[in-house]
Amino acid sequence: MKTAVFPGSFDPFTKGHEDIVRKALPLFDKVIVAIGVNSTKKYLFDLEKRERWIHAVFADTDQVEVVTFEGLTVDLCKKHGASFILRGLRNPADFQYESNIAHMNEGLDPSIQSVFLLCDPRFAAINASIVREIFKNGGDVSNFIPNTIDLHA
Ligand code: ADP
Repeated sequence: MKTAVFPGSFDPFTKGHEDIVRKALPLFDKVIVAIGVNSTKKYLFDLEKRERWIHAVFADTDQVEVVTFEGLTVDLCKKHGASFILRGLRNPADFQYESNIAHMNEGLDPSIQSVFLLCDPRFAAINASIVREIFKNGGDVSNFIPNTIDLHA
């Protein structure tokens, strides 16, 4: 069984995140969307909501699982028997940042490979932290998040 873990904060989950997961579905038997919990980080949306929203986005497929985790992504991969870490790339800055993390993860566990998928150009400008700012200031974020998600719910 080919399993990939897609780790992130997903605060909130955006159309860009959805695009990466959907593009990965033909490549893997299972994609685990893993919401990372870092006790030193403050999130805008609580964990239970983020988890529920992602479940709703992928209600149409049984290939996607949603979990929450603390600690190292490679440890989570081992726990779930996943040999791949899935990440999305929007631009060269993402590549630079992500390649560093991927090399570190490879140093921690060479049996786990990072796999990168390019985001759809329509979603390249979508950034969860900007979505949060717009939301906090009362703006309409519906163009940036999956239709199944209502941030007010
Ligand atoms: P992190 O806080 O770890 O960056 P995010 O929730 O912001 O977590 O992102 C998780 C993953 O989704 C990362 O691989 C990131 O590059 C990717 N990603 C974020 N936004 C987009 C987007 N608009 N299109 C494609 N991939 C994206």
